[in-house]
Amino acid sequence: MTDAPKSVTILGVTGSVGTSTLDLIERNPEGFRVEALTANSDVEGLAKAAIRTRAQLAVIGDESRFAALQQALSGSGVEAAAGAGAIAEAAARSVDWTMAAIVGCAGLSPVMEAVRRGGTVALANKEALVSAGSLMIEAVAAHDATLLPVDSEHNAIFQCLDMAALDKVRRIILTASGGPFRTASREAMASVTPEQAVKHPNWSMGAKISIDSATMMNKGLELIEAHHLFPISEQRIEIIVHPQSVVHSMVEYVDGSVLAQLGTPDMRTPIAHSLAWPQRMDTPCESLDFAKISRLDFEQPDLDRFPALRVAREVVIADGAKPAIFNAANEIAVAAFLERRIGFLDIVTVVEAVLHGYDPSVPASLDDVFAIDREARLRAQEWIKAKAA
Ligand code: NDP
Ligand code: MG
Repeated sequence: MTDAPKSVTILGVTGSVGTSTLDLIERNPEGFRVEALTANSDVEGLAKAAIRTRAQLAVIGDESRFAALQQALSGSGVEAAAGAGAIAEAAARSVDWTMAAIVGCAGLSPVMEAVRRGGTVALANKEALVSAGSLMIEAVAAHDATLLPVDSEHNAIFQCLDMAALDKVRRIILTASGGPFRTASREAMASVTPEQAVKHPNWSMGAKISIDSATMMNKGLELIEAHHLFPISEQRIEIIVHPQSVVHSMVEYVDGSVLAQLGTPDMRTPIAHSLAWPQRMDTPCESLDFAKISRLDFEQPDLDRFPALRVAREVVIADGAKPAIFNAANEIAVAAFLERRIGFLDIVTVVEAVLHGYDPSVPASLDDVFAIDREARLRAQEWIKAKAA
């Protein structure tokens, strides 16, 4: 890349996507200037990244770790800050490009700050978009921001979709690996442990998205994400299981042409696409060895074994408050499963119970979204407590 350095902020730098983003940036020191880096509790990872990249600012979400961060950064010249508000303020700083890689709805305020600033936001944090939905898309338009999809499927669609010929799109086909329990029976899934569930067959990711992949809740969140990112009706977004994770998603046009984006399952490819967009940049990602892969398999998803897909379809149709409830209840249920407070199959049961338990009005503001998110979390916690009692 030969242009002036791009100024960048990475929200969630210590996570899986954050680390991959940092890797690409550190391989191109002339191409980028780091403004702010954020994490929640990993002081050491944050401080090391900030010192190495000579960031202006490092922010830790957990305020009790502020002193530790200050100490880790002392003498480095990197400014330190702490708290959720400070993360949102960091996101509001003027930069060319922001990576939104915080996990969960905790990332919503910072993403919205970055959007309101009108820059380019590379979105990995799907929960933020699922929760805020059209409010986020409206803010992107109102502030002339650019939202680039980092999720591998949505990045693939973005690369294949001709925005000038949307009326000529027959369907979008979202691929799903099927996760570690693709062929497992419901009986077998009933007793799986967090250790088994986080072991994704193709991708190395954070714990929450790994569990979402195992329940296929991830594909449900991605269906809602796709519905907001691309102006294509929900009926024309299909999900197909593709165990090799080589075809990252496809777009079919009315003439029968299907355009797909392929690559090895390495998040650095979609991150690099967003980082260099509208140009391209080198990555160390392996080339696909087609002779070695030799075959690509596709199968219909099984809605009986993976009811999360059926629930997500209901949610995307209902819209309104439902996507925020769906996401919040799932975040609580995944955390409870990781803490061994509920079983694997309970995750979707909790989500459905909370979804069907009440019907708040359509959120008209971000505050409404936060209120819906809070109540759904409380209801999910109550369900989990009642089950344990
Ligand atoms: P990780 O759990 O690996 O990382 C999450 C990051 O967010 C960490 O930097 C963490 O800090 C920070 N964080 C966690 N909670 C909070 C909080 N309450 N406030 C502020 N920061 C917080 O997640 P991933 O990198 O796997 O995923 C990040 C997002 O990207 C998710 O939305 C996921 O769905 C999406 N995504 C991830 C993919 C992947 O391959 N991993 C693929 C596609 C999408 P700390 O380390 O200090 O806890
Ligand atoms: Mg994905």
